Amino acid sequence: MEIEQIKKNNKKLNAFLEFNEQPDSIPEGGLSGKTLAVKANMNVSGLHASCASKTLSEYVSVYDAHVVERIKKEGGWIVGVANMDEFACGSSGETGAFGATQNPKAPGYVAGGSSAGCAAAVAAGLVDYAVGSDTGGSIRNPASNCGVVGFKPTYGVVSRYGLIDLAMSLDQIGPLANTVDEAARLLEVLAGYDRRDSTSLNLDPDFYRFTDNLEADLSSTRIGVAPQFTELIVDEGIRRMVSESVDKLADAGCQIIEVDLPSLNLSIPTYYLNVYVEFYSATRKFDGRRYGKKIEENCGGEVLRRILLGEYISQKEYSGKYYRRALRARSVIRSELLDALEGVDVLVGPVVPKLPHKIGCEDLTNPRTLYAYDVFTTPVNLAGLPAGSVPASVICGVPCGLQVIGKPLKDQAVLNVMRGFEKLNGS
Ligand code: GLN
Repeated sequence: MEIEQIKKNNKKLNAFLEFNEQPDSIPEGGLSGKTLAVKANMNVSGLHASCASKTLSEYVSVYDAHVVERIKKEGGWIVGVANMDEFACGSSGETGAFGATQNPKAPGYVAGGSSAGCAAAVAAGLVDYAVGSDTGGSIRNPASNCGVVGFKPTYGVVSRYGLIDLAMSLDQIGPLANTVDEAARLLEVLAGYDRRDSTSLNLDPDFYRFTDNLEADLSSTRIGVAPQFTELIVDEGIRRMVSESVDKLADAGCQIIEVDLPSLNLSIPTYYLNVYVEFYSATRKFDGRRYGKKIEENCGGEVLRRILLGEYISQKEYSGKYYRRALRARSVIRSELLDALEGVDVLVGPVVPKLPHKIGCEDLTNPRTLYAYDVFTTPVNLAGLPAGSVPASVICGVPCGLQVIGKPLKDQAVLNVMRGFEKLNGS
């Protein structure tokens, strides 16, 4: 799509916050001729990394994030910076300071969040690819709502250098694209060791050949399903979608095995306690002296809530009442997931428990409404696992994805099941 057309279509969608010039010379590489959107919490030299916040609205990046360096080297053109929830705090794409992003596949509905602009830009065909971040579902949730593919790699597979933290022990950068093959192709560019990120993993070169190793064959794949997935789904249409998807996988030769995730209902409080403390600490640098403005005086309600609660919990830390307990709950959730994955190749379940709401129709001052979207996505980040969302059905006019979750470093197994499922759906 021509840039003028992208700008015109964006007026309705609000997927981009800023556009970029086309580079004079583009190197030959894996992304030559491809266009990309990059979420506004990653540094792209010369563009604003505002995190969709008034706090950083005038902050222009002076360097490229690791993933941005890689994209440029491979000949990709970053068309612009994508809209998001403020500092990636949200599940609907509505908490940003510059307006909500429309869902291109379901007009009037939210795109989901927090990588709202990324998913919308891909879904509307404005770009070939988008680069999002996922702390508790922010790639998978909007991918599900907008009917595109989104993948969150194992923690450490993609360098976070140049990403503005929400919660550094949970944040992971990953691709959004129209197909699993394209998502794997972009992941191949994004992933790789980077000494500037101390959590970056240095893996065998074969690990990174995501497209060469992509296989759609599902026969003999062992798929785990947990009854808790079904119990916690709110929307009847999503329950039906999951059960029909599991039937399709069984018909294709997968072995379906029931697994137990008894603490799944603890994922939301556990995740948010961890996030509040880490986010509070990450935002101390936004004191108005070096980067942008003082955050407490310029942010929206959800960001302020997290800062205040993070401060309170950190002060109470000596008593071990909240944070230490949340860390313990995090390791319980992680062990349960690893146990459940022990006898299977992947787990399959919903991405979200309920369909997205209409823009402006939910009370954003009530955190329960927004947090409720995260029950199936946050456990994956708490455990550092790879997981993706692949389009599964359209329910009452709104797309809905299936979540595939894998063992640590079995990113390829997740992509393969996603590809196999995509093929069963005829693409
Ligand atoms: N919805 C979750 C939150 O608001 C996840 C956000 C994310 O993954 N960045 O924290």
